[in-house]
Amino acid sequence: MSSRSAEVVICGAGIAGISTAYHLTVGKGVEEVLIIDERPPLSLTSDKSTECYRNWWPGPGDAMVSLMNRSIDILEELSGSHGNPFNLNRRGYVFATAQADRIEDFRAQGEEAASHGAGPLRIHDGSETSATYRPAPASGYQNQPTGSDLITDRALIGEHFPYLTEETLGVLHARRAGWFDGQQLGRLLLEQARFNGAQLIEGRVTGVDMEGGRVEAVRVDTPDGSLRITTRNFVNAAGPFLKEVGAFVGADLPVFAELHAKVAIQDRLGAFPREAPMLIWTDPQYLPWRQEEREALLEDAESQFLLEEFPQGAHGRPEGPADSPITLLIWTYETQRVAPTFPLKFDPNYPEIAMRGVATFLPAMGAYFDSPPRPIIDGGYYLKTEENRPLIGPMGAEGAWVIGALSGYGLMASPAAGELLGSQIAGEQPPEIARWFYLDRYDDPEYQALLANWGRSGQL
Ligand SMILES: Cc1cc2nc3c(=O)[nH]c(=O)nc-3n(C[C@H](O)[C@H](O)[C@H](O)COP(=O)(O)OP(=O)(O)OC[C@H]3O[C@@H](n4cnc5c(N)ncnc54)[C@H](O)[C@@H]3O)c2cc1C
Repeated sequence: MSSRSAEVVICGAGIAGISTAYHLTVGKGVEEVLIIDERPPLSLTSDKSTECYRNWWPGPGDAMVSLMNRSIDILEELSGSHGNPFNLNRRGYVFATAQADRIEDFRAQGEEAASHGAGPLRIHDGSETSATYRPAPASGYQNQPTGSDLITDRALIGEHFPYLTEETLGVLHARRAGWFDGQQLGRLLLEQARFNGAQLIEGRVTGVDMEGGRVEAVRVDTPDGSLRITTRNFVNAAGPFLKEVGAFVGADLPVFAELHAKVAIQDRLGAFPREAPMLIWTDPQYLPWRQEEREALLEDAESQFLLEEFPQGAHGRPEGPADSPITLLIWTYETQRVAPTFPLKFDPNYPEIAMRGVATFLPAMGAYFDSPPRPIIDGGYYLKTEENRPLIGPMGAEGAWVIGALSGYGLMASPAAGELLGSQIAGEQPPEIARWFYLDRYDDPEYQALLANWGRSGQL
């Protein structure tokens, strides 16, 4: 067995581990940072993301909005100082509804987000306020409004979102939101971390040696044999394997996994507008079928579920530059807690269900019903806590840290989450929001009382 030492050893070269390494080396001046991964960097979950970001999060408290605002600040700073290598845009998320009673929900969500620091809610209901709505540019992110615009003026909806179904009664446009190239972001952070001393080692972390209740060494199986790294700091950034890796220091992390998929299609007919923001339909729906299709589905017991009501949340966005034909479709119409196993298996019905679900609010997609484009389906595990908030901070034993349970928001959260954890490892006084993400929050009766009446989780 060979041996070496490091100040910090990070298990996992996904976006969470890489961001932590970046902040430790670039921001905190910690040079001896080793990132261990048995796979190529960013290749397990972090390259399967839809790559969207938003400061649009429910409470309780303003912790999630603050975390995301800080992340977006970092994304904008990195973008500004490196010439936007990861194509950060600011198109926003557009939530749309055809149900009159949803409008009040939209207003309440806008007000709640504003109260948490997401920015003000502006109402455009046909009065003179309609003239003040500013659509989002297709590219760039500077000088854009924050907060949200609630539009109930149907003429204004038709003017700016002519592609939405005519039944649309309201849209809520969250403005500090958009998407970026997550691989390029990860590459930039890793490059900078390595330039400042971090090293990446291929290998599987198999255990952590403890001495007197604190971390003493990390054991790794590498292609060249076993390696023992003495260290005072072990970071668990193992993504879907967070629970297994937590057990190496005796921590029982309260997390579970859900499989989530996305579909990429070649939108050869240009059904999904290239300049569109992220479009999300907030109404439950029945999939659009023709009468003869309906009858055929009814005859087959296994297909009948396709005629039942599906939940809210079908969404999609255009991917790539203006001349790219790629469109992404996502719809989490079913989730189950599962053990994270690979290779992944997806529901073969998913591409058609997602396409039809999106066609409900984007009728041009209906042109594909008879000859659907060949879909590419991929995805990964959302590793989650019960209330869909991350774990960032100490992991039970002294010198053990965790950054994970980043669910469906790890790309957008990691820039700030890595900074938050980096400052704790460096012994700095953490900001007030840090405690919302500590593992030991579950020991607090007040937090348990909050959990009992949590409300919305923020998952799309
Ligand atoms: C379909 C889908 C859509 C998504 N959309 C978005 C989105 O729009 N915006 C957003 O912000 N997020 C999104 N996400 C979520 C985001 O992708 C994840 O939250 C994020 O990638 C998690 O990063 P991670 O670093 O925690 O995990 P991972 O990327 O999984 O990295 C963990 C790493 O740890 C390594 N590892 C584990 N155990 C060991 C071990 N014992 N030894 C060595 N290495 C080990 C693994 O090999 C892996 O490389 C989406 C996810 C999915 C699946």
